[in-house]
Order: sequence, then C-alpha cells, then structure tokens
Amino acid sequence: MKIRKLDIENYETVVHATDDATGLNAFIGVHDTTLGPALGGMRIWPYEREEDALTDVLRLSKGMSYKSAIAQTGLGGGKSVIVGSPDVVRNPETLRAMGRFIETLEGKYITAEDVNTRVVDLEIVREETKWVTGLPLEKGGSGNPSPYTGFGVFLGIRTCLEEAFGSDDPKGKHVAMQGVGNVAQAVIEQLLKAGATVTACDINEKRINAVKEKYPEVTFVDPDTIYDIPCDVFSPHALGAIINDQTIDRLRCPIIAGAANNQLAEVRHGDILREKGILYAPDFVINAGGIVNVSVEFQEGGYNEEVALKKIGNIQNALKSTFAMAKEDGTSTNRAAIAVAKKIIADAKRS
Ligand code: NAD
Repeated sequence: MKIRKLDIENYETVVHATDDATGLNAFIGVHDTTLGPALGGMRIWPYEREEDALTDVLRLSKGMSYKSAIAQTGLGGGKSVIVGSPDVVRNPETLRAMGRFIETLEGKYITAEDVNTRVVDLEIVREETKWVTGLPLEKGGSGNPSPYTGFGVFLGIRTCLEEAFGSDDPKGKHVAMQGVGNVAQAVIEQLLKAGATVTACDINEKRINAVKEKYPEVTFVDPDTIYDIPCDVFSPHALGAIINDQTIDRLRCPIIAGAANNQLAEVRHGDILREKGILYAPDFVINAGGIVNVSVEFQEGGYNEEVALKKIGNIQNALKSTFAMAKEDGTSTNRAAIAVAKKIIADAKRS
C-alpha cells in the first residue's frame, strides 16, 4: 500500500492511500484533535475525480470537528472516504486494506458508519484495526447510529417549530423530506406518531416501496419537485449542497431542519435564508445524535443507551442557544454555530 501525506493548511493530518493489490483508493482527513481523537464515518462514493474525494473529506472532517465541539462529545473531527462504487468497494479485501490504512494513524482517527457503509462492513474493517466504533451492541459497540441521529433530528424539528410558531407540537404540521434513507425513516416514524403529515421523495425505487409499505400515509413526489412543496418544514436527508443558487428561491417553507451534512452549498446561502426569514437548523448541530451515541462508547463502563438518549436531548439546548446568538449578533444561524464551535476549540487549545 502506498500512503502519501498531503500538506493542507488548517488540517492536522490528511493522507491518501492507494493499494494495487486490493484496489483501495482512500483518503483520511484529521481536521482537529484538540478536544479528543478525530472520530467520523467512512464514506464510500463513486467520486468522478480524486480531487472531489479530497474536497469531500476536508469539508466533512471539518464539519465533524464543529459537530463534536458543540455536542460536547470529547472528540475531535475526522472523516474518511473510499473512492469507488459500493458494489465494487464493499468487498472484504478492500475493506481490510482500509482497516490497515486506518491502523497506520494509531488511533488519531477513529472510524464509524457513513453513507454506503454498513455495520457488517465495519466488522470487516475491525479485523485489521481496533479504531472502529458503531459495531453491534453484542460486540461492545453502540450499534447503528442512524436511529439516534433520527431521534435528534426529530427533537430538533420540535425546537424549530417552537421558535417559528411558538409551539413545538408537530401535530398538523407538514414536513417535506428529501430522501427516505436510514435516518429519514426514523424521523418519519416519530413525525407520523406525533400527528404530522409527510411528503417525501427519493431516487431509489426500492427505498420508496419499502417506505410506502411501512408508512402508507406518506405521499411521494418526484425528487425534482420536493423544493417547490409548500410545507412547514423542509427536511433534507440525502446529500449535501442542496441549498444553492438554483434551489433557494424555490423553497416554500419557514423552517429547514434535516440530517444531511453540508446542506448549504456556500456559507452565504445561510445569509440568504436569514434574509428570506427561513429558520435554518445548522446541519452539524441538529444531526449530532449519531456521534453523541457513539461517543458514549468512550465513557467509563462503556456504552449505555439511557445516557446516550439523555445527551442527545441536549441538541435542543444547542439549537436554542444558536438561534438566540444569531438574533443577538444579527447573523445567520449557520455563522453563529460555526463561531460557537470555533470558540470552543480555540478555548481548549489555549487551556
Ligand atoms: P442513506 O444512504 O440511508 O439515505 C440517503 C437517501 O437519500 C437514500 O435513500 C438515497 O437514495 C436518497 N437520495 C440520494 N440522492 C437523492 C436525491 N437527489 N433526491 C432524493 N433522494 C436522494 O443515508 P443516511 O444514513 O440516512 O444519511 C442521510 C444524510 O444524513 C447523509 O447526508 C448523511 O451524511 C447525513 N447524516 C447521517 C448520519 C447517520 O447517523 N446515518 C449522521 C449525521 C448525518
């Protein structure tokens, strides 16, 4: 395996591995370890160019630093990406090579689930390195993080409803969901139970059919029209950069609150949302449930679900103080949250 170290300003460690024997082509980004080892998921994606994979790992690892700082997980920010189609990459040889790659960082980076990785994949990675979280409960891990991320997003939607409408009750509110994957399904279940109506879309026919069967109340629309749906909450649960120059004027919602990472194409899109009077729940604040759940694995005595759920409840306080700070400073909620995260890391660096 060839491992190349890349010098990237403001990142502690960025490494690129290629391995002819197994076909592994992967990046690990360690953004900051001031608050603890850098924990973040392992994404598998068919990036068209290597530089797209690098850009992604840099953006995502920085996001993890901010997310963990605000959620007070005691962890730093990192991420890894494997270049390739999941059908090709998700084979034992490549995953084991990824495990060996992670092992070279000696615990500075700890991996977890992310888009296109499953618990079974992590179990294979674990054969080569102990720096793996999110393994099944019976193997001493905290299990699949998605339901916990979903729980945090549901609580976060309630906080947004309170901020925008003066009541956190989802009853009678209409939520438009982009993507009905693992996290979204946990959110849908809780929204429906609480009396909300849900309009959704996905690009994966299998996923749509599974959700239709489980939740026949959900109305499906074409993926391209989801931005135009008049609703109380637009809830992104697919990929990033979906709030951009092409979509922002189409939105017909007072609230944006969902799990997808890096929802704003650029920071300035948060400013436009503010000008439009749309309340934006910064993604790295509202989607911290999964990382909070995983972080409980590091507590004395190991993982405990009760402790995790209680800590995930803090997402509501983090959102409330973000909204208050944004108002006070006359800035976007996104900029306010970034400022808080940066200050937490800078204060810890000084002490
Ligand atoms: P997932 O892969 O299970 O679900 C994503 C869904 O989005 C899939 O069903 C996919 O078909 C769909 N999709 C992709 N492009 C689409 C498009 N253009 N329009 C409509 N649907 C589209 O992933 P997940 O684990 O549910 O994560 C969803 C998002 O939340 C991702 O951005 C992820 O990074 C973020 N997130 C997840 C967690 C977690 O615990 N899983 C934690 C934090 C953030």
